[in-house]
Amino acid sequence: MSEKTILVWFRKDLRIHDNEILLEAVRKSDYIVPVYCFDPRQFELTSYQTKKTGLIRAKFLLESVSDLKQSLQQLGADLIIKVGKPEDILPELVQQYQVTEVYHHREVASEETRISADVETALWRLKINLRHFIGHTLYHKEDLPFPIKDIPDVFTSFRKKIERDSTVRPCFETPSFIKIPENLESGNLPELSELGYQEEPQFDERSVLSYKGGETEGLKRMNNYFWETDSLKNYKQTRNGLIGANYSSKFSAWISMGCLSPREVYWEIKKYEKERVANDSTYGLSFELLWRDYFRFMFKKHGNKFFQKSGFKGSAPEEASNQQEFFELWKNAKTGIPFIDANMRELNATGFMSNRGRQNVASFLVKDLKVNWLWGAAYFEEKLIDYCPASDWGNWAYVAGVGNDSKEYSHFNVLKQAQDYDPQGEYVRLWLPEIANIPAGLIHQPWLLTELDLSAYNIKLGKIYPLPILDLLQVKSR
Ligand SMILES: Cc1cc2nc3c(=O)[nH]c(=O)nc-3n(C[C@H](O)[C@H](O)[C@H](O)COP(=O)(O)OP(=O)(O)OC[C@H]3O[C@@H](n4cnc5c(N)ncnc54)[C@H](O)[C@@H]3O)c2cc1C
Repeated sequence: MSEKTILVWFRKDLRIHDNEILLEAVRKSDYIVPVYCFDPRQFELTSYQTKKTGLIRAKFLLESVSDLKQSLQQLGADLIIKVGKPEDILPELVQQYQVTEVYHHREVASEETRISADVETALWRLKINLRHFIGHTLYHKEDLPFPIKDIPDVFTSFRKKIERDSTVRPCFETPSFIKIPENLESGNLPELSELGYQEEPQFDERSVLSYKGGETEGLKRMNNYFWETDSLKNYKQTRNGLIGANYSSKFSAWISMGCLSPREVYWEIKKYEKERVANDSTYGLSFELLWRDYFRFMFKKHGNKFFQKSGFKGSAPEEASNQQEFFELWKNAKTGIPFIDANMRELNATGFMSNRGRQNVASFLVKDLKVNWLWGAAYFEEKLIDYCPASDWGNWAYVAGVGNDSKEYSHFNVLKQAQDYDPQGEYVRLWLPEIANIPAGLIHQPWLLTELDLSAYNIKLGKIYPLPILDLLQVKSR
């Protein structure tokens, strides 16, 4: 009988734990050819003139691929690393290693699925099958209590039905040994410069975490957050925090890159509930993972509507005539609204922003400044270390009021939010040292200070820190 060789095409599933394509390929073949392609399209400019992948996430990706290569080497295998389009590279490798089938995980957003379709066509010419697996969500598509087309658009209905009628599958085992062809030419990890970056990202001491890509680090972070620091038991109380490593899990970057499986996180929560405590915090974290699933399934259901200005609604939100100028100030943390600028500085410097911060800056851009929400989503796409299409565009559409389940309440009162979530102004002080002398009561509204106070605090509004872009007290929001 002829030998069977399966090519495992890694994309956003950069792990060996709970990875069905890897395990299934090991079970079904004599040899595995594991491949990762750095697709140049991932590093191009978008139609919004933003980068598809900013520097911080590019570094995280390189680290993740490098870690995957090491993990595979420890199992007796290796990873072929190439720079180029998968639809060009995979057919070549198929011929070089006499591959009999190619496995990959199906994506949901249109650019990614188009690439799969192109790969499928190229392989079809060689009479090779591309097998699609489903492996990015907590709940498997086939275990949902409804077909994709009937998934409720309202999150709460979606959640309630799933919690009542579906279960999370167990994780897949990690293979103990992987056999690769003897002559496998694995190739080296590209440098950032080969991907078009002229510099290395600088680590900012104020970052919530010193992020490093890869499943090793992702699993380490999970162990730290759950078991070493016992932070999970307080998640519900701390999740709206702004400063530090442990107010929330910070799993998102690893989950988005597929270094950490949401199912693995879920079952670790269950273990924690058995061994430590089961409370509203442990439930709260699985609840958030369900939001992630929701946006992914919504993408599957509604496709490209998430990239359109009017989303699911008949009309797009109103836009200001000077929106370009507003957008520049927002991006560059120069709105003169300290809570917004602090969050944007954190994003620009570290690639991360808390969920509270994201909701506020998004609402401010769309509802107060009346800037096209697609620009904001594209900017996040470039900057976020944890960017993933469904979570980014889905959340933006939701905040903009054009997504599914969008209620009018997503207009945040930024000043109230700043007072509620940063009452002492510590977060603003951390990111805007130039106004750090202003006392707690006034730091969120420096424009209310008298000339005398301003000079006492050594601040010149309009020079050292901008005057506010809007008179927020005139803007009606809840
Ligand atoms: C405008 C906007 C854009 C966003 N863009 C992204 C994005 O590109 N990628 C991304 O992973 N998250 C995105 N989020 C969701 C959320 O802000 C982040 O997942 C979260 O802040 C990451 O921190 P954490 O891992 O500590 O989250 P935790 O609070 O610890 O939550 C655990 C996990 O649940 C998932 N999750 C939590 N909240 C959401 C949510 N609202 N939507 C989807 N998944 C969620 C994430 O995987 C997260 O790691 C966005 C939110 C907003 C408002």
